[in-house]
Amino acid sequence: MDDYEKILDRARSQVPEDAFKRSGERFQVPKIQLMVQGNRSMWQNFQEIIMILNRSGKEVLKYVSGQLATAGTIEGSNAIFNGKFTSNQIEDVLERYIDSYVICPVCGRPDTDTSKESGAYYLLCSACGARTSIRPV
Ligand SMILES: [Zn+2]
Repeated sequence: MDDYEKILDRARSQVPEDAFKRSGERFQVPKIQLMVQGNRSMWQNFQEIIMILNRSGKEVLKYVSGQLATAGTIEGSNAIFNGKFTSNQIEDVLERYIDSYVICPVCGRPDTDTSKESGAYYLLCSACGARTSIRPV
C-alpha cells in the first residue's frame, strides 16, 4: 500500500496549485448596469449576466423580482422592474441567487446546471459531479 500512497502523493503534487486556488475565489460577474427612468428600473446588462450564469432569463427575472417584491419584464437585453431600485440592491439579490442556484455547495465552483426530476430540483455540478437538491425558484 506504501507504493500506492506514493503514487497518490506524486499525482497530487503534479496538479497545478491554481486548480485549488481558483475554487475558493468568488464567482466574478460584471457590475450591474442600472438606469432608473421615472418609476422603472432598467437592468441594462441583464442578458450578458444570465449568459455568464448559464441560467434562463425567466428564472433569474422571477427570482429577482420576487426578492424585490415587484413586477419585472424582459425587454430586449434589459430586465425592467417597476419601482426605483439601486444597483446595490439588485447586486445583493443576484449574489443570493448565485449562492443558492449557481455555486456548487460541494466544491464551490460555478460550473453547474439545474435539472428538474419528478418535481424536484437539482443543481448538477460538472466540476465535481455533485448533485444537490435545491428549492425551486
Ligand atoms: Zn461541485
